[in-house]
Amino acid sequence: MLFCGLQKLAMVDYPGKLAATVFTGGCNLQCPFCHNALLVTRLNETPSLTETEILDFLSSRQKLLDGVVLTGGEPLLHPDAADFLRKVRAMGFFVKLDTNGCFPNRLAPLLAEGLVDYVAMDIKNCLEKYSETCGVSEMDLAPVLESIRLLRNSGVEFEFRTTAVRELHTADDFLAIGRWLEGAPQYFIQNFVDSGNLIETGYHGFTPQELQCFADLVRPYFGTVALRGV
Ligand code: SF4
Repeated sequence: MLFCGLQKLAMVDYPGKLAATVFTGGCNLQCPFCHNALLVTRLNETPSLTETEILDFLSSRQKLLDGVVLTGGEPLLHPDAADFLRKVRAMGFFVKLDTNGCFPNRLAPLLAEGLVDYVAMDIKNCLEKYSETCGVSEMDLAPVLESIRLLRNSGVEFEFRTTAVRELHTADDFLAIGRWLEGAPQYFIQNFVDSGNLIETGYHGFTPQELQCFADLVRPYFGTVALRGV
């Protein structure tokens, strides 16, 4: 694993739990609105931490924190994610994984082995605009579809979520996402916020009223729909 950050106390990253958030470096995608360019396109400017440093910190918080969030970059870019999560699990933490869904072959064993309690998978856009939204030409969507299938059949709690970007999403796109993923238990629309650390500039979020309209459009397709960042 390449560890590039540790947020020692995260109040909202893991729904309902006090957590530490561990950031891994590197991603296979280049979403132009990515708010964490330091972990994707500017890795050489980003200091790293050792696994021992991370685990020592977590060990010191065993009775104080409920869980650990593994996020990125893309955590499953790293073939040894399961080894790390086994060690986290052994300390008794709940584990939430954030993923872009591109590595179903690494997600499947985590689900089967019970190494994750909650998975948040990005749904970048409707199928027709997926590649463009990921900043990748002619992206193979089969792994994304397979990750969706795995999560639906896993019995592990999960959410789908989309970062809403004015330049990339329309109401019709959200409707298409709803129809595509119909029946999923939870869907979140999170407003794009300019972190000042984007892969490309020139992107904007939506107004709360616009986001509410998107949420109302997709509500019939999911168990629950909610907004974040509003
Ligand atoms: S938004 Fe996520 S999937 Fe996209 S480039 Fe950034 S880290 Fe990778």
